Amino acid sequence: MEIEKVYPIHPEDEPLQVLPTLILRGLVIFPGMMLQFDVGRKKSVLALGKSMEENQLIFLVAQRDLTEEDPSAEDLYTMGVVARIRQVVRRTDDGIRLFAEGLYRAKICTIKEEKPFVLAEVEKIEPKKRQPTPNTEALIRYTQSLFDNYIQNYTHVPPDIVLGVVQQKDCGELADYIAMNISLDFDKKQEILEELHPYRRLQRLSVMLKAELEILSIEARISEKAKDQIDENQRDYYLREQMKAIADELGEDDNPLEEADQLRERIEKSGMPQEQQEKLLKECDRLAKMPDGSHESSVITTYVETCLSLPWGKSSKDRIDLQKARRILDRDHYGLNKVKDRIVESLAVKKLNPDIKGQILCLVGPPGVGKTSIAHSVAEALGRKYVRVSLGGVRDESDIRGHRRTYIGAMPGRIINAIKQAGTNNPVILLDEIDKLGNDYRGDPSSALLEVLDSAQNNTFVDHYIDMPFDLSKVFFITTANDANNIPDPLYDRMDVITLGSYTHEEKFNIATKYLIPKQLKNSGISTKNLRISATCTREIIDGYTREAGVRSLERQISTICRKSAVQIVKEPETVIRVTPKNLEEYLGPRKFRNESQNKKDMIGLVNGLAWTSVGGEMLPIEVAVMDGTGKIELTGSLGDVMKESARTAISCIRTRADKLGISKDFYSKYDIHIHAPEGAVPKDGPSAGAAMATAITSALTNIPIRHDVAMTGEITLLGRILPIGGLREKTMAAYRAGIKTVLIPSENVCDLAEVDSVVKDSVEFLPMEKIDQVLDAALTKKPEKVVQS
Ligand code: ADP
Repeated sequence: MEIEKVYPIHPEDEPLQVLPTLILRGLVIFPGMMLQFDVGRKKSVLALGKSMEENQLIFLVAQRDLTEEDPSAEDLYTMGVVARIRQVVRRTDDGIRLFAEGLYRAKICTIKEEKPFVLAEVEKIEPKKRQPTPNTEALIRYTQSLFDNYIQNYTHVPPDIVLGVVQQKDCGELADYIAMNISLDFDKKQEILEELHPYRRLQRLSVMLKAELEILSIEARISEKAKDQIDENQRDYYLREQMKAIADELGEDDNPLEEADQLRERIEKSGMPQEQQEKLLKECDRLAKMPDGSHESSVITTYVETCLSLPWGKSSKDRIDLQKARRILDRDHYGLNKVKDRIVESLAVKKLNPDIKGQILCLVGPPGVGKTSIAHSVAEALGRKYVRVSLGGVRDESDIRGHRRTYIGAMPGRIINAIKQAGTNNPVILLDEIDKLGNDYRGDPSSALLEVLDSAQNNTFVDHYIDMPFDLSKVFFITTANDANNIPDPLYDRMDVITLGSYTHEEKFNIATKYLIPKQLKNSGISTKNLRISATCTREIIDGYTREAGVRSLERQISTICRKSAVQIVKEPETVIRVTPKNLEEYLGPRKFRNESQNKKDMIGLVNGLAWTSVGGEMLPIEVAVMDGTGKIELTGSLGDVMKESARTAISCIRTRADKLGISKDFYSKYDIHIHAPEGAVPKDGPSAGAAMATAITSALTNIPIRHDVAMTGEITLLGRILPIGGLREKTMAAYRAGIKTVLIPSENVCDLAEVDSVVKDSVEFLPMEKIDQVLDAALTKKPEKVVQS
């Protein structure tokens, strides 16, 4: 160590001293603290040597710019600390480790020398001692609490330091102590060092400490987040790796990228039109970008899979063989010749012109007359797939057309579902109960159906879910309805309507013996040897246990007999069961219907009306009673508005003929007239009982009985004209069943007699009527006498 010049060193207690100066880089020492640091720069080592030779005092001051290798006098702060060197340790790498204790603040007055080491004249700064005040006490406490907070976030503070902070009662010293022991930038520490006023020093420090705390808490949050993320990523990664390993073991592979590729391949092979393919390929591109297993990706996959499951290019080959078709229709159905002819005609046209569009059959008739089963046979005859879509109670357009994909749980509508179920693009689709479509605020399903059935539009039918056109033009649509009047007009116009009427007793008998009984025996696995149902018994079932237009409940009764017999046959396999009218009640319980309630006697005020409901024709007896009163008219028996009006018309019509009929002219003010239609709970409506009501009123007013074997139907006008009615076939059938001999019908309905079953025509006489007078002549047991009123 060489020192060129020697300056006198002042004693410790003098305010001005010339001291070898050690320049600190990025470090600040405070009075009263031990500092340990490595010394490397040559100037520093020389200064250290000088100090060791003298009184081991050294002035420690920081340089402003850390990057400066050889700082000059201007590069130094002026405020530093005079320290005593406690220990110097030489290190193996030529460096020196210094232990020094800060004694007091000192300020550079002049730099005496800069070379070979810095020698500075410094002025000792006495610490200012103040009496504690509530202010200083508060600041001390506040800073202590901040420090407390600090060590909770920053765990590297040794416990003795914590103790030191608690014990400090002087603002300046506390500030120095804390500044020394927390991680602050050196320039901030220098600021504290330079602040000589103890209160302000602590104040400054508390501000810095608060800021530091803030930074620490943000840091903590960031690191927590980063940790979470790492944890989550690691967890995901781990699980995914496990999944891959499991999939590998199972020989599966559902990587989304590969899944998208697989779907792409399937789309290209699906045979769907180009435009549709492009749309789906775009979905695959989206899928490939989705994170594995996300909700969105499963929505896309389901969508593409649904589209792919549609039979875009798959159709069954039409084998139209008219003879075979007829054979199949005959095999499954008794009678119905007109319907079968119409169907065979349609098929013939289809054979001649396979591209014909818009052939939609609509089978209209009461329940159980075979509409559904005819449609099934048509599909079989054509060799096409068959799907039934029930429209009863469909109120919502999206039921037909599906929900948009944006809805959670969206699905295709019934039509596309039917196509999917059929698996071919040319099935026979039966749209059952098209007259029961609902229509309300949720949308009009009939307009969606219109698009399905309209041959001009249905080659580009767009379901909301599928969201691209599907060609429905090859589908053979058959619809069914109970009541043609309830089919929305635009739909009705587009269909070929075929009416199926109700069955006669004879027809039912034939259907039962030739079709239903063999079918039910087969279904129950019973051979004809084991169970015999006699012909009279079959007739008994028809009359005593069913009252319907079709044969559905007849079929149910037969199946009940089969079920009950099956129990006996299982017990004794050789047994032969004979069901006869005598033991029928053992199987079916007591008879539900007696012979139709036709009155056996001619009665005053009781007439046989005829009604038509969607389940067939019915006898509608009407009773009229006349009592002394004030001209009130009572109408009971759940009569609808039209029927009530019709009753009033009938009364007025009779009033105009009162003279001729021998009825007192003022009957309408002297008597109350009560009109009642029995089976009061069954709602009845329509104008077709007008003639019947007029007849009953006349009978009640004239006291002339009405013939019990006459039934009638017809609307009446004020002038007594009889207007035509609907449902003649069903009504006359009801009359026939009731044993009626004569049926009075409006003369304009005579042409409809062609529709009436020949069995009915054989046993019932039809009398055409134009005026109510003719009706009265035919129905009353004697002619009313013209009475001259006094
Ligand atoms: P709908 O659709 O008109 O209500 P279904 O087609 O369901 O009636 O017929 C009910 C049952 O009656 C079916 O089992 C059907 O085979 C049978 N059926 C109806 N009409 C006939 C018929 N003419 N010949 C043979 N079975 C018939």
